[in-house]
Amino acid sequence: MAIILPLLPFENNALEPYISSLTLEYHYGKHHTAYVHNTNNLIKETELDALSLEEIILLTANDLTKTSVFNNAAQVWNHTFYWNSLKANGGGAPSGVIASLIDTDFGSYENFAKSFKEVALGQFGSGWAWLILKNGKLSMSKTSNADTPIAHGVKPILCIDIWEHAYYLDYKNGRAEYIDNIINHLINWDFANKNLEG
Ligand code: MN
Repeated sequence: MAIILPLLPFENNALEPYISSLTLEYHYGKHHTAYVHNTNNLIKETELDALSLEEIILLTANDLTKTSVFNNAAQVWNHTFYWNSLKANGGGAPSGVIASLIDTDFGSYENFAKSFKEVALGQFGSGWAWLILKNGKLSMSKTSNADTPIAHGVKPILCIDIWEHAYYLDYKNGRAEYIDNIINHLINWDFANKNLEG
């Protein structure tokens, strides 16, 4: 059972001017695609080949002999989650259940936005910023490299990719501006609400 590269949930130019079609051409077309190919090559003719992507991630997370499988499989999963965390004309203050949870758990949307930016800026080197649900409460976390909340039994609600490949073509070293634009213009709150239901 090969791991499949899901289609992007939008056109290559849908996130412009904040994320260019050139970035998506490389980020989705080269990076995400390579993680899928690498995972399939690594699991081929092993017992992992019969498992789902989530099962592979859970099974390899704490196995030091399978670090490459974990890294590639988790990156496949994280990128699919990231694309779904974004949409054209997104961002800004949310509506629905996520809006009231943000008010309860962060005090206000403004506090949420400030903290999410701080968490994403504070990741040293490559990794991910996450809005997560833990014990019924929203909080934030960051993970390094390929690490993912689902390997730790934590439920992700949204994420931002903060590897340089996510923003370097459009922003060079301007990670802060990239994060601002995601928070203000691209967050897919429908996806966040859907994740709260599931
Ligand atoms: Mn990436």
